[in-house]
Amino acid sequence: MTTELSHFINGQLVKGTSGRFADVFNPATGEVQAKVPLASTQELDDAIASAAAAQPKWASFNPQKRARVMMAAVQLINRDMEKLAEALSREHGKTIPDAKGDIQRGLEVIEYCIGTPQMLKGEFTDSAGPGIDMYSMKQALGVVAGITPFNFPAMIPLWKIGPALSCGNAMIMKPSERAPSVPLMLAEIFKEAGLPDGILQVINGDKEAVDGILDNDTVQAVGFVGSTPIAEYIYSRGCANGKRVQCFGGAKNHMIIMPDADMDKAADALIGAGYGAAGERCMAISVAVPVGDETADRLIEKLIPRIEKLKVGPYTAGNDVDYGPVVTAAAKRNILGLVESGIEQGAELVIDGRDFNLQGYEDGFFVGPHLFDRVTPDMDIYKKEIFGPVLSTVRAGSYEEAIGLAMDHEYGNGTAIFTRDGDAARDFAHRINVGMVGINVPIPVPLAYHTFGGWKKSGFGDLNQHGPDAFKFYTRTKTVTSRWPSGIKQGGEFNFKAME
Ligand code: NAD
Repeated sequence: MTTELSHFINGQLVKGTSGRFADVFNPATGEVQAKVPLASTQELDDAIASAAAAQPKWASFNPQKRARVMMAAVQLINRDMEKLAEALSREHGKTIPDAKGDIQRGLEVIEYCIGTPQMLKGEFTDSAGPGIDMYSMKQALGVVAGITPFNFPAMIPLWKIGPALSCGNAMIMKPSERAPSVPLMLAEIFKEAGLPDGILQVINGDKEAVDGILDNDTVQAVGFVGSTPIAEYIYSRGCANGKRVQCFGGAKNHMIIMPDADMDKAADALIGAGYGAAGERCMAISVAVPVGDETADRLIEKLIPRIEKLKVGPYTAGNDVDYGPVVTAAAKRNILGLVESGIEQGAELVIDGRDFNLQGYEDGFFVGPHLFDRVTPDMDIYKKEIFGPVLSTVRAGSYEEAIGLAMDHEYGNGTAIFTRDGDAARDFAHRINVGMVGINVPIPVPLAYHTFGGWKKSGFGDLNQHGPDAFKFYTRTKTVTSRWPSGIKQGGEFNFKAME
């Protein structure tokens, strides 16, 4: 039976009234398991209005009180870890350990938000002039919105909800219509943790809801994560409407393998970073750049048996599975179409996953692992984000050529170098024009107390996600200059007459 999902408005799960729905699939079986309501502009505007009504009281709480809600939410998310992971895997397709990692990385940002009182402390200058003090405070923006992608249905909503709410804002969370259940479950958890009604509204929807957010004057800021074309659209329309906007887009992450690298470690790293979560990670490595033909040959030789051992299957198969299906049939078609283009444009398909078939799951959206060698920068498989289990190898003649490739690519989310040479590693970290860099670390996702964000076409706006930047993004600074020239204290003596 197909479940009808809800929105979460004013502390309650409520059915949609627009009459429009999207199918939510179980990617392992290909079945429609739920219908998610797609909000109308009216439903959205009503939810924004009630968030705006609830927000001032929430912002007036002392920050420690808001931090206590975060503390309670951490306990409850841990309590519900298994349930959340199962729901996440069922809609997304990723394995249970991957789903738990998704939740855990979000949880760490909520843990960081327990330090909100410290993060919101202002600045004070004593005696900036005669009788004058100056102080700055960080105040909530009001109602803010988060628009998130399908591939991290827990982590990315939590990256937005935690800091936005801790700063005293109310949030409209518009999750991906392809994986909406976990954000709804998280909203219920925050309510149980003591969050007042109306402060977190989960509004499911598509372009209509997104445009409604961008055009609603009450919404002060928008944080988006998703593909680059939508990031650019949201950034320009949101900014044109006078909002504070940060958008994080797609990626094409290069890993450079130097001749002196530990080749076994580099190959192991590429297996996890290239094929984990079926390649549906913005920090996945999709391009391997071995330096020198000999390095390339050694690398390919190490990769082949490892890729052949990869087990692809449904999350219900437990630890026997390395990665699951991709999210929809359309995503599968797109990946296989790009694989065909790679072959047509002359790349060498070393491992061909096109005919992958899983008995009993013939209608699931599974894609076998692919490995390309001799990919060149003019090919579509190099230029475009594939977002699937397809690793491309571009052979570079020198370190300069390798770093040049990563620097010239339009995306700049993450990158890595594998080497034993400290000079090369240091030069790479210093020169590369990419936001997150790994040295012998393939997926360099910064921890909660640092910030996460890409450069070039992977990030729009000037502040990153989580860490100290999030507290800047979700507050605005007010600076007060105050003079008390009352003459109360003159020449070191109190003038009691002036106090009368
Ligand atoms: P997407 O761009 O299709 O969707 C993201 C959000 O935008 C969803 O909530 C969706 O409903 C909304 N949306 C989609 N089309 C829209 C339209 N025409 N107008 C207005 N809103 C629209 O992205 P996705 O497929 O869900 O996620 C995968 C993408 O996200 C990949 O490109 C991946 O690299 C990227 N991503 C980036 C990061 C990062 O931090 N840079 C993190 C995770 C994912």
